Amino acid sequence: MNHAHYVVDDWLVCLLDIAANLTDGMFKGMYNGRQQHAADLSIVLKRAWDAGVERIIVTGGSLEESREALALADTDGRLYCTVGVHPTRCSEWEESGDPEKHYQELLALAKEGAAKGKVVAVGECGLDYDRLQFCPANVQQRYFEKQFDLAEATGLPMFLHMRAAAEDFSTIVERNRTRFRAGCVHSFTGTSDELERMLAFSNLYIGVNGCSLKTSENLDVLKSMPLERLMIETDSPYCGIKSSHASSKLVQTTWPSKKKEKYDENYLVKDRNEPCQVRQVLEVVASVLGEKDQYKLSRIFYENTCKVFFPHDIDTLANAVLSASITGDI
Ligand SMILES: [Zn+2]
Repeated sequence: MNHAHYVVDDWLVCLLDIAANLTDGMFKGMYNGRQQHAADLSIVLKRAWDAGVERIIVTGGSLEESREALALADTDGRLYCTVGVHPTRCSEWEESGDPEKHYQELLALAKEGAAKGKVVAVGECGLDYDRLQFCPANVQQRYFEKQFDLAEATGLPMFLHMRAAAEDFSTIVERNRTRFRAGCVHSFTGTSDELERMLAFSNLYIGVNGCSLKTSENLDVLKSMPLERLMIETDSPYCGIKSSHASSKLVQTTWPSKKKEKYDENYLVKDRNEPCQVRQVLEVVASVLGEKDQYKLSRIFYENTCKVFFPHDIDTLANAVLSASITGDI
């Protein structure tokens, strides 16, 4: 395939996308239940690799989706995944008829995937009070807490989702803080106050994507994020940077796009975010933080990501620093 359309030359960055919902129907050409074009995940992935993305963590948001995410991760050495249940999907525990059996199935899947080096986190899990219509708060809380059992049983870090629920989220994390090694609060859209609450947990990192960079208030919050606790992601196919966002004028790299109705594999689908666009998140973050050296920044995010999700891949010194920070020695 000819990639002349993409501005990929001279990129010197090391990019990881820690959040990609690659099992989403949009990558199968399905939008709101309607087939608009052929499944094109292989094309999407090729664009990501060509754009310098080295690894992608595929998000698992339910037991079924986690199974699919692991099967997908098995197809490519650069793909990894999470196993867990998203707060808006937590009704599935009780709807399964046997929450304990549901837990055992998640645990077996997480263990199987972790043994292969493919499952790198428990999640995504957490609390989302903006979308209580999908699952009530008390059910979200019960099964968010239950997923710390998974983290403890597997030794895996946590991939966390927190939306409009900082108070209860902090209470639950606090109660379980010794039961998980590290975690990332992904797709962070909170206030400075909420950021502070998250960062007060020394083993929590923050993931930012287009949704985290929508408004000028969002960009102000970003300015107070410590670099050594930050990661970048797309949350694709959602959370893309749109022209109406405060971040859009800070984006340097763009890909031409066409509407889904006029699908062309050489173009991005308009309003469908893709892992290659993690590059745009890097550009916006660099600009907001006043860092001209995007390579340097990408290295920092890469290292942060490895510390949490790929601890076997960092050098022994970084390992030592990490284990010291976990045990509270530093
Ligand atoms: Zn999320």
